[in-house]
Order: sequence, then structure tokens, then C-alpha cells
Amino acid sequence: MPELPEVESVRRALEPGLVGRRFVHVAIADPRLVRPHEPAEVAAELQDERVAALERRGKYLIVRFESGRVLLVHLRMTGSFLHAGSGALGDDPHRRAVVRLDDGSDVAYRDVRRFGTWLLLEPDEIASYLDAKVGVEPLEPVFTVAHLAERLAHRRAPVKAALLDQRTVAGLGNIYVDEALWRARINPLRPAETLDRNEVRRLHRAIRAALEHGIARQGSTLRDYRLPDGGGGTMQDEFRVYGRGGEPCDRCGTEIAKTRVGGRGTWFCPACQPARAQAISASRPSRSSRQSSV
Ligand SMILES: [Zn+2]
Repeated sequence: MPELPEVESVRRALEPGLVGRRFVHVAIADPRLVRPHEPAEVAAELQDERVAALERRGKYLIVRFESGRVLLVHLRMTGSFLHAGSGALGDDPHRRAVVRLDDGSDVAYRDVRRFGTWLLLEPDEIASYLDAKVGVEPLEPVFTVAHLAERLAHRRAPVKAALLDQRTVAGLGNIYVDEALWRARINPLRPAETLDRNEVRRLHRAIRAALEHGIARQGSTLRDYRLPDGGGGTMQDEFRVYGRGGEPCDRCGTEIAKTRVGGRGTWFCPACQPARAQAISASRPSRSSRQSSV
């Protein structure tokens, strides 16, 4: 599933071609995309709207129109956009919608598994809708160590499960939670409430670092993730733990282990991320931690 770095990469790639453009024709082929509304009705509502901004909140893409309305897009598991020049759109059996823009280009929405959603919201609906579903943006100043500590306090759930909850931090998913926990040297099964202040500080920094790394590589191309030009990201080549069971840890050489947390495949280093808390100074360089963990 696309996570914050993937959705942000899509946003950045789509933004120049979309902002300022008018939707001259909208075709929605799959009722699941807009249910419980009727595809033809939603398409008619979208027609003639002009895009004022393309934003992101957590894993949501927000197409903000000049009218003040927004189209809230969630790619879920396999949703992707393709922006093609006039007449350049080929056939695709998994295409669910096409928007013709006023420059003649097409923005096509593809979704193999069909879990993605398009929701048209009125100006007064958007803030409350999103605030109920997603917590603060981890790359914005509002995401502080104190805020993260507050969100993890009194939670007995494994820290990984707490981080997958979109209300804890917006935009994290299975990949970047595993990557962040490895960076922070915290075991994914540790009850969230047992993390001490230093660990929360490390985790805070690690979440940002993992996400920024993912954005710098334009996300990870697994399964159906695609950028709007048809290309993909390269973060999958630089995963530290995700999907790397049996391979040596980049930090200490121990074999990466796999477990399950909340039904999700979870990768971690048993040496760097021990099941019980380990005193590691937040400022200690990784070389000495390597010695202490072997
Ligand atoms: Zn390790």
C-alpha cells in the first residue's frame, strides 16, 4: 500500500500538470470508487471544476478546487495515476476513471484491487473529515517528541501497531514503520507505553528520517505503485529491514527476523532491536552501539 512517501511522490509529480487546469470531462467507470454515490453524478459534479492546489494529508491526496470543494483520493492498496498527453492514453483493463483536462491531456486512475476511493467534499466538510481520521503530519513542525510521547502513552499495544494507527501519526504504513523502528533500535513488539523518553526521541527522529529517505527515492515500487509518468521509485533497493528476512542487518550483521504484529508481516533485527529495553544514548554514534549490541 502506498504510504506517505509514495503519496507525496505522486503529489509532487502530478502537481505541475494539474494545478490551474479545469476538468473538462470526467468518466468514472467503477461504482466502487465513489460509492455510495452514483458515478455519473460524481462525474457531473466534478466537471468544470478548476484545480487550485494539490495537497496531501497522511495517505490522502487532496485535489482542492477553486470553488472550495475538494476531491479526496485514497489510493489504498493498488491505486495509481497516469498523466498522459492528448491522445496518448493506451488501453488498460484496470482503469477506473479518466479526467480530461482543459489542455487536452488525460489523468487516468488505475486500480487493480479496487479498494481506492474518490470522495467529493464540500468546503466545510474537509477539515473535520480528515481530523477525525488522521493525526499530525510527521514532517511538519507540529510533530514534536512531546507530541509523539503523548500519543504513545498509556497504550499497551505493540509500538508497531500504535504507529500503524493513522491517528497516532499520519501516513505511516507497514514499510516505513519497520524502517523507522530499525533506525530507532526499538523492537516492534514493545508495548508503546513502555518506551522511555530517549527511545521516543530516537523514534521521532527515525520516523522523519525513514520518510524523508523514502521521499528522496520517490517511494518504493512494490506491486502496483507507479508515478504519474509511468515510472517508479527506488526506495525498495534501500530497505534496511522491510522484506529482508534472513539477510544480514546493515548495522550489526545479524540475520533480519520476521514476525507478525497485528496480522502484518514485520521485519526487525533481533540484535539491534531487542525485545527488552536497552539503554542507548540518543546521541551515541552507531559504531559504539554496534559494539554494545554484539
Ligand atoms: Zn542489527
